[in-house]
Amino acid sequence: MLHPSTHTSVATNNGAPTNSPIPSYLQADNLGPWGNYLQQVDRVVPYLGHLGRWADTLKRPKRILVVDVPIHLDNGTIAHFEGYRVQHNTSRGPGKGGVRFHQDVTLSEVMALSAWMSIKNAAVNVPYGGAKGGIRVDPKSLSMGELERMTRRYTSEIGIIIGPTKDIPAPDVNTNEQIMAWMMDTYSMNEGATATGVVTGKPIHLGGSLGRKDATGRGVFTVGVEAAKHIGLDIKGARIAVQGFGNVGGVAGRLFTEAGAKVVAVQDHGGTIYKAGGLNVPALLKHVAETGSAANFAGAEVLKNELFWEVDCDILIPAALESQITATNAGKIKAKMVIEGANGPTTPAADDILQERGVLVLPDVIANAGGVTVSYFEWVQDFSSFFWDEDEINARLVKIMKDAFAGVWAVAEEHKVSLRTATFIVACKRILHARELRGLYP
Ligand code: GLU
Repeated sequence: MLHPSTHTSVATNNGAPTNSPIPSYLQADNLGPWGNYLQQVDRVVPYLGHLGRWADTLKRPKRILVVDVPIHLDNGTIAHFEGYRVQHNTSRGPGKGGVRFHQDVTLSEVMALSAWMSIKNAAVNVPYGGAKGGIRVDPKSLSMGELERMTRRYTSEIGIIIGPTKDIPAPDVNTNEQIMAWMMDTYSMNEGATATGVVTGKPIHLGGSLGRKDATGRGVFTVGVEAAKHIGLDIKGARIAVQGFGNVGGVAGRLFTEAGAKVVAVQDHGGTIYKAGGLNVPALLKHVAETGSAANFAGAEVLKNELFWEVDCDILIPAALESQITATNAGKIKAKMVIEGANGPTTPAADDILQERGVLVLPDVIANAGGVTVSYFEWVQDFSSFFWDEDEINARLVKIMKDAFAGVWAVAEEHKVSLRTATFIVACKRILHARELRGLYP
């Protein structure tokens, strides 16, 4: 386990100790998503008032765990995978955030994702800090048995820092309710007691919550509708382009279509499809469920991937991976509004270009917070062993998203800043206020 704050050489400043030097893996240069996150924090420090003295807390994850995950493959050989769990901050409550399985996962990426969870959880005011985990693996290359063994070994390895009151994982890219069931079972077997509250996003029959599957997409839709009112955009007839048509983009696409919008373009790992009059979303969802991608969808035009960003549309929903909207394509975006279903899809340089061009960006840390909000409901239901109906869950979700969005909008107006900076101001103040109240121990 690496503790950034216990770096050995402590420099002195006129005899007074200073911070230990920032370890290389925490610095902004060439660190991809973590570098982007550090720039986002720097932009809010001037707005933090006296809490600014605690701001370094936000730039150093509390705890980083890197684990070796060895498993027996079906062919009798042994494979090793690299796993991570990062607890960025626990000032407001236990760590909380998903686990992703992807061949490109890195420590720096998981650090950024854990930090964005701290901001997101504080922005919607659920009583959690921020955490994230991942394994550097292409899960499609594993059999079901290998996937289960890898998930269980990873859970055992990170079992020393997770738990219902310590850090609660959930699904993220390429993980689902079956993987959460295996994680819950493994943790419970090691503890000698069934602990449903150790993960969220579980199957309904194992302490999962109604409404959790659609929650992130429903949150994206809810804030999108609220923001559209502010800029006079009619959802009826609005043209939408969606990147990633899975649990987030697919659900958001469905809800916007039900509200009268048209999904004109979809991009995923299989390519880019386009139809000016609007794609048949229910049929496309069925096609994606059957084939694993939007590619080869009957009746749609195929576009070159780079042309996706130039599609004539009103709303753009990046709902895949980080750093998709960059200085290279931000100038070409025609949408009036970008709703970030993914975590970290827009780089700080692209943010500036979009703001200059008057494109409204609804940042990830508020726009995709619906998932963790219903995770919170699931955790509360598990603790009380009393389960709510779906209408109640959706109504509570919509209220939290609308209230949080209204608060952030007001802060953006007050300080004349972007919605991202406004969300960071609200969230960082909550986190650092808790930090200050708790004080330092010893
Ligand atoms: N992985 C989701 C996110 O990025 C949900 C996390 C959770 O429910 O803990 O927000």
